[in-house]
This record gives sequence, structure tokens and C-alpha cells, in this order.
Amino acid sequence: MCFHGSKSVTKYISQQFSTPVAGALPLMQNPSRNGSVLTKPAIVVFDLGKVLLDFDYAIAGRRIAAQANLPAAEVQKFLNQSPLLHRYETGPMTRQEFFEEVRQFTGFRGSLAEFSGFFADIFSEMPPMIALHAALRRQGIPTYIFSNTNDLAMEHIRRNFPFFAKFDGYILSYEVRSMKPDARIYEALEAMTGKRGAEILYLDDRPENVEAGAARGWQVILQTDPAKSRAAIAQLGLLAPA
Ligand SMILES: [Mg+2]
Repeated sequence: MCFHGSKSVTKYISQQFSTPVAGALPLMQNPSRNGSVLTKPAIVVFDLGKVLLDFDYAIAGRRIAAQANLPAAEVQKFLNQSPLLHRYETGPMTRQEFFEEVRQFTGFRGSLAEFSGFFADIFSEMPPMIALHAALRRQGIPTYIFSNTNDLAMEHIRRNFPFFAKFDGYILSYEVRSMKPDARIYEALEAMTGKRGAEILYLDDRPENVEAGAARGWQVILQTDPAKSRAAIAQLGLLAPA
């Protein structure tokens, strides 16, 4: 196992945060640094969207709009990052209720089954990240999915992406009734895994989610591109030497 000095790792993780939120992240207070050596994480926690699977709500917007009364862009806006999606993904709303609201707002004329297909078939694998996950499994590292999501997306992903079966556990917003960056879903992950603080390495593409993990002492990687994520994980000693 090749383990470089912490200097390069710290520098690297700092670079991960060279976005406008960089100043907000208390890297030096992160207890992942144990003296001069970074703690090797016990588990790796993956966000799903834009970390393992790419997605594009424009695809759903176009397909639904083709059978509705609104332009695709407006349908897309109504679906993605909307108060409606938030209610669906935090659990109080069923798939049928979600469908009814979309139907009322857009005038969609198709069935629930058609809608479900259009809404959920927006994902594609990110091959370097699927390979990275497989490499961690080969090293015997437990891995978890930690996602703001909904039952329609989960049903589709379980059916279509074999890699998704190969995690030790799944912490899903609509099941735990809390969405990242809300503290309750992070507590749910700690409860499920029995791990906390620097034992946890967490990858996510959204700065606010990563910051909430770092605030709990988790080791974090803000995903910007797969090669950088892989390099950061390799530097933590979690991958076999090349
Ligand atoms: Mg994401």
C-alpha cells in the first residue's frame, strides 16, 4: 500500500474546494488529520447523481411535454430542483400523488406507467466511477449509497444498472424522510454504518452536501471529475498499488 505524506493529500483536497465555497470549509479543523498522517477511512460513501450516474431532466421534460400543454423547458423546471420534487424526495408524497400534481400542472395525457418511464429514464453510467467503485470492492472496502432520490428513480436504477446491487447499504432520502444537507440524513448514515467522523469518506458533487459531511468530521471529496476523485482515494491508501 502506497501512502504518500499528508501534505500532498491536504493540498489535493484543498484543490477540490477551490470553488467559491472554499473559504466556508474548515479543512484545518477536520479531524481526518491525525497528526501529520491522514486517517485511512473504513468505509466509502457515494452520492449517486453526477457521482456514479449522470442524469438529465431535459430528457424527461421533452418526453412528458410531447404529451402535455407546456414547453419542455417548463416541464423540466417543474420537475427538477422544485418544491414538488423536494416533497416527493423527502417522503411525504407518494408516486401517485406526485404524478397527479405533474398531470394537473402540465396537462400530461399519458398514464402513470408512461409518466414513470419518462421521469425515471434519465440516467447513464459514469464508467470511470463505476470502475472506481469496483476497485474499492476488490480491496474489501465497504461502500454505501447516500442519495436524495425517489422511489421511481430507484426502481428504474435497480432494474437497469447491475453495479447498483453491489453496495453494503443504501441511505435514501425518501426512506429516511430527510434530504442532504439536512443533518438527519447524515445521522441516519452514521446509525446504519456504525461509523462516524474520519472513518467515513464521502464523495458528492454538491458543495453544500460535502460541507455538511465535513462539519461532522467526515473526510470528503467534492467531485469535479472522476480522475481527481480516483487520485484522492488512491492517496488515502484505499486502492491497490498500480
Ligand atoms: Mg449528486
